[in-house]
Amino acid sequence: MHGSTTPPAASFDAIVVGAGLSGMYMLYRLRGLGLATRVFEAGSDVGGTWYWNRYPGARCDVESLDYSYSFSPELEQEWEWTERYPTQPEIQRYLNHVADRFQLRRDMQFDTRVTHAHYDAARSRWDIQTDDGQRYTARYCIMAVGCLSTPNQPSFKGLESFTGRWYHTGLWPHEDVDFTGLRVGVIGTGSSAIQAIPQIAKQARRLYVFQRTPNYSVPAQNEPLDPERQRQIKAEYPARRQKSRMSRAGFPFDAPERSALEVTPEERNQIFEAGWQRGGIGSINAAFKDLVTNPDANETVAQFVRDKIRQIVHDPATAELLIPREYPFGTKRLCVDIDYFETYNRPNVTLVDVRSAPIQEITPRGLRTSTGEYALDAIVFATGYDAMTGPLFAIDIRGRDGQSLKTKWSDGPRTYLGLATAGFPNLFMITGPGSPSVLSNMVVSIEQHVDWITDCVRFLKDHHYTKIEASRQAEDAWVRHVNEVADLTLYPRANSWYMGANIPDKPRVFMPYLGGVGAYRQKCDELAANNYEGFTLSP
Ligand code: NAP
Repeated sequence: MHGSTTPPAASFDAIVVGAGLSGMYMLYRLRGLGLATRVFEAGSDVGGTWYWNRYPGARCDVESLDYSYSFSPELEQEWEWTERYPTQPEIQRYLNHVADRFQLRRDMQFDTRVTHAHYDAARSRWDIQTDDGQRYTARYCIMAVGCLSTPNQPSFKGLESFTGRWYHTGLWPHEDVDFTGLRVGVIGTGSSAIQAIPQIAKQARRLYVFQRTPNYSVPAQNEPLDPERQRQIKAEYPARRQKSRMSRAGFPFDAPERSALEVTPEERNQIFEAGWQRGGIGSINAAFKDLVTNPDANETVAQFVRDKIRQIVHDPATAELLIPREYPFGTKRLCVDIDYFETYNRPNVTLVDVRSAPIQEITPRGLRTSTGEYALDAIVFATGYDAMTGPLFAIDIRGRDGQSLKTKWSDGPRTYLGLATAGFPNLFMITGPGSPSVLSNMVVSIEQHVDWITDCVRFLKDHHYTKIEASRQAEDAWVRHVNEVADLTLYPRANSWYMGANIPDKPRVFMPYLGGVGAYRQKCDELAANNYEGFTLSP
């Protein structure tokens, strides 16, 4: 990276990679410490995942009033949400408001992708290079790159020959995409597809959904936010936020105490039905304590959803195809929908099973499976992400002794608390692998990580340390713990992106931490109070 004739690199105290929810708040907090900070962002504006995911129907599965920053009581009170679940444009407006309110943009550089982050042990500094060839240096490097920001675009043969238009949900164009009168194919039936399909179906002349694995989905039961309810929640915000912080998944719900097997089938069904009517995350999935740990309990909720699908979808063959059978309920991310299953009752929508008849190639005029060709004017890849490690590996990150992160993690991610990794001093990850992250309300987890990192940097400053590094021993113990907790559940049984199973050759390792955000927070706080136990601090 260094050439003798190149100009000196611009120097900062901290460099943050990414201007999504995590990078924005990280900047705000580091500024509060008086650190000269620069944020680099590949997009042209703030927002991260919400900047890129503009596909039709894109909306957060967490309720607006909980999917928002809690660090500023004024911000919390002044922003008015309009619907139970926020749409992508509404979240983008909110994040723009935050950026303006706290004047974040002046320390952000957009349209700039970080390509290299190399640790220079002699200077105890990170050397950063961006895609425009510029070099920067900083004591701290903070990866706020998101967990689901590296799109997975499967390499279908013939895509370059396709004469229609094609899109990936995670890289949606900023201009309007109009499917009116077109024959559209959607590949995939995960959370993104399940939101997009009902919207595209309303426009397209014909919609073919190419499904490999059916998903469990619950209705969002979205509705306009009642101003009175919004006022009430805002009045009780401190307690509500605190409850979320100490909860299992970052939501202000009471944890279920009963087993699904200790009630009668009638009572169980009533409870599931009430959850279905309430809708969203924290509905049927949070009805009993053992739904993702006990296979028999799991089967009760799986069966409830299967019955719902059969009731909603008129064509029995389509209903059977839409029914998930091969993995336990909730072990792939539960989808939340608005009229997803209902959409298959439209005459212009056809479900195509590409498990039994795989996609063979994209042709100039459509898509061919092993049973025939489908004529298409547009293809939507709703094929997901190289989750959690993908965004980190997209950057050439090298620690002490030039070791690359990708090499170190070749058998799966190895972190201490998902915050740091041995051999990479002064490098922090926000919601990294090994932290609750994607199994939680992301905003709650992001704020916890950012607050922890801020306290840590303040501690280092106050005690005249220049370097912090996770110890190998602490990291090994944490990785073991993350795996042990996952193995107590049914999660490892699914071929999910949590397991890296959606990406060819990715190691099959459960990446997020299942111990719960409240317990995890306590653990992080305890070891910080214990002079950053498990880390080595150097003057
Ligand atoms: P995803 O859940 O990974 O779904 C990808 C879909 O594409 C799956 O159905 C997958 O089938 C299919 N697929 C992938 N490669 C394929 C191939 N070669 N041939 C045929 N099908 C293929 O991705 P996503 O829907 O983008 O969601 C990712 C995550 O983002 C979610 O789980 C969620 O955490 C988050 N998200 C959240 C929201 C929200 O809050 N509202 C919305 C969207 C996304 P297989 O299952 O067989 O692999």
